[in-house]
Amino acid sequence: MTDLLGQVHAAAGPYLESLATRPVQDRDALKLLTSLGGPLPAAGEDPARVIERLLAVGTAAGTTSSGPRFFHFVTGGVTPAALAADWAAALLDQNAFSKISSPFAHEAETVALSWLRELFGLPSSWGGALVGSATFANFTSLGCATSWWGFQHGVDTAEDGLAELPRMPVLSSGYVHASARKALQMLGHGRNSVTVCARDGVGRVDLALMRHHLTSLRGAPAVIIANAGEVNAGDFDPIAELADLAEEFGCWLHVDGAFGLFAALSPRTAGLVTGIDRADSIAADGHKWLNVPYESGFALVKDPSRLGAAFGMPGAAYLPGAGDPAAGYALTGPESSRRARSLPIWATLAAYGKEGHRAMVEKHLDLAQRLAGLVDAAPDIERLAEVPLCIVCFRAAPPGVNDLDAFNRRLGAALLEDGRVYAGTTVYDGKVALRPAIVNWRTTESDIDFFVDVIRQLIQDLR
Ligand SMILES: *Cc1c(COP(=O)(O)O)cnc(C)c1O
Repeated sequence: MTDLLGQVHAAAGPYLESLATRPVQDRDALKLLTSLGGPLPAAGEDPARVIERLLAVGTAAGTTSSGPRFFHFVTGGVTPAALAADWAAALLDQNAFSKISSPFAHEAETVALSWLRELFGLPSSWGGALVGSATFANFTSLGCATSWWGFQHGVDTAEDGLAELPRMPVLSSGYVHASARKALQMLGHGRNSVTVCARDGVGRVDLALMRHHLTSLRGAPAVIIANAGEVNAGDFDPIAELADLAEEFGCWLHVDGAFGLFAALSPRTAGLVTGIDRADSIAADGHKWLNVPYESGFALVKDPSRLGAAFGMPGAAYLPGAGDPAAGYALTGPESSRRARSLPIWATLAAYGKEGHRAMVEKHLDLAQRLAGLVDAAPDIERLAEVPLCIVCFRAAPPGVNDLDAFNRRLGAALLEDGRVYAGTTVYDGKVALRPAIVNWRTTESDIDFFVDVIRQLIQDLR
């Protein structure tokens, strides 16, 4: 077995060294993907050959999303400590189900959650759950909200579901993320349960409209979703003002801070999340701005008992029950058996500390401003939004091009086809735009400059 691990280790050095310069996607290498297929082997093959083939395909055809030039979606890299700890998690193969299945994984998760609370300046009394993504963190948080809301109506939704209840009112701005809607869909509320209160085409919150909707509920309990870091331009809902509304109308306040929660790390941006400690639940990602490997997300919940109420398991004679001191995180989150996903979080926080992570966030704030400056200086590019955090929203606007939406769609497709750098398109205030997000610790000023060079080259080619 150690020979096989040696093969992976041998491939790691050259692969990691190539990250700074290799293209994000080598299109030619994608033809290798067919070699993964064929019928299920009957007798199997020498594992050394299998791993050799896997590494050959993966290192050539894999997407360099952990490299410094992947600005699509919101995609973090992997710190050295986090990567090594993730290997350790695979090596140790712990089941972070309960204190019996792994006291070690349980303790590492307890420490990781407590360090995360400290990192973001949240009270130690809050509960939390490590999950696979911000989608699942939204699911976990809104699952707690659902349980709370059911109890307001005298129903234990964990026992009896939603059938006896009216529809759960959910209010948000136009910034509400697709994954929050998906969480509501998975929880049985339906993705259309959200009432969007937006005052403009960008989606900025209309507080008066939200107040109007809350008033019309006549005291019925509701959920407000505040968005800390929306995906088009990295803007924030006014969390304190939404917290005021939540307090006045007795609502559950959930904050989707998948990457925006990290604004709390720098005094330069902490003002964007003022009031976040007044939330009932917060969802965020580890695999974005914390720079730990996939799959990593977390939910932080003000009243820890909500997690057990929503995610406790029905008794099975062979499992520890809710009150059992041997119980663990499986009873306070959506999953049962799970890997020790705390280890990379624990290791990156132990290795780089609060200061290291603050410095990384501030480096990205600087890089985003550098990109904004380059965009502003380029005659064929037009910035569409302020840059409060780590996303720069802009579009190509070369003189003489009439249909800018069509042109920018072609630019977005050309960028992915080219493959040297990646960024995705969106629609911002009705305009097709690009929205590179900078959250990878490896990204440097020259990567940003290179990105703009590639964009401007492609604009020239497409005209
Ligand atoms: C990325 C993101 C999500 C979903 O995160 P996954 O990790 O992809 O599940 C949710 N909300 C916001 C604001 C995001 O940026």
